[in-house]
Amino acid sequence: MNSNAPLDTYTLSQIHSTLQAVVRKEDWKEGLDILLASFRDEFVYDNVAIYTLDAQANGFDVIYARAVGRGKHAEADASWGEGIAGHVVEKKEIIIETSHAHGDTSRLDLPHLIGLPLYIGGRLSGALVFVRFAGPVYTTEHIRLASLISLWTASLLERKALQDARVELESVQRQMRLQDDFVSTISHELRTPLGFIKGYSTSLLRQDTTWDEKTQHEFLTIIDEETDRLAQLIENMLESARLQSKTIQFKFQPLRLDALIRDVALRVRVHNPALEIKPEFEDMPPILGDSVRLSQVFENLFVNAIKYAPGSPIIIHLERGKNSVRVAFADNGPGISQGYLPFIFERFYRVPGQSITGTGLGLYICKQIILAHHGKIWAESIMSQGTTFFIELPIDSMP
Ligand code: ADP
Repeated sequence: MNSNAPLDTYTLSQIHSTLQAVVRKEDWKEGLDILLASFRDEFVYDNVAIYTLDAQANGFDVIYARAVGRGKHAEADASWGEGIAGHVVEKKEIIIETSHAHGDTSRLDLPHLIGLPLYIGGRLSGALVFVRFAGPVYTTEHIRLASLISLWTASLLERKALQDARVELESVQRQMRLQDDFVSTISHELRTPLGFIKGYSTSLLRQDTTWDEKTQHEFLTIIDEETDRLAQLIENMLESARLQSKTIQFKFQPLRLDALIRDVALRVRVHNPALEIKPEFEDMPPILGDSVRLSQVFENLFVNAIKYAPGSPIIIHLERGKNSVRVAFADNGPGISQGYLPFIFERFYRVPGQSITGTGLGLYICKQIILAHHGKIWAESIMSQGTTFFIELPIDSMP
């Protein structure tokens, strides 16, 4: 392109078709791939990367990197351009760094770098950096073309920011709907045990009736059980709030997961003597964990299996992976439909249309505890066949 000449027909139609292809891509990275590839004949480069200022603006995040030439730098290691990106942001202008050959320098030791500022939403937010090994130095036309590419890149990044904001907004909206549902669920959940406690204690206190000892015992048992239910509910609410605000102190120490699960199973059996639990454990190495919190996770899984898969045996398979231990906690209850499965670990989420009561906090609590152990939890389910919860916890790393 001559800087004084109008854009020729070829260039115009090339720009037009490139832009058309770019705007049709929903994924901004795919759009950027097309954009950068389409100009590679006119603007040769080996590697390209985008550096955006991190939240504290004292370092960079590499949000895009491609190695298209024979450059020695892998895409995963994009540290090569961080220095020039820093200069671009500091000087707020295009920076060019050119190496000069002396002696028998290898091609790869002669990088020519060009860094261009990226303005996103009117703010200088990072830099687009190209590197070319040896090859010609950048001409005025190259710089103009690179500048044009950087403007398009910035507009793609604006689109990414919008997409991210929309995803966030949708998640907040869903959370608000769940909060609304939660208020009605929780009022029901609180009122039911309170109603029992009030009803049976008022009956016991009536002056005009005397209750025989058996009936008194029956009423007091109900009051006792409903008080436990209420206490558990309040504890779950507080626990989920503490986990959400990350104010819980975990006490990590070496523990054996097989022993921990066996202990929980014994306690669960006390209240559910008919429950069939089938442990399939191999020899487990110790892991670092908080035994109280991890017990809570398995208690929740037991409570759910008893509630949602009544009468089903529970198979707990424990195996050792390369760097982790994996638990599969399976029931053969009614299952969870695929459409609901992605949401069950969200705070307050309950599968709609079920008659069984609950608050939607149990699995949220489980997930937060497992995440605090640097582990993973997920569920797989087949309708009418059952649900399996998987937990993976690292063996060596200190959380
Ligand atoms: P809650 O039990 O209070 O509703 P949870 O967070 O423990 O809250 O569970 C979320 C939802 O996941 C439940 O409403 C239930 O529909 C579903 N669920 C959990 N465990 C099982 C299971 N073992 N089988 C079928 N559905 C389950």
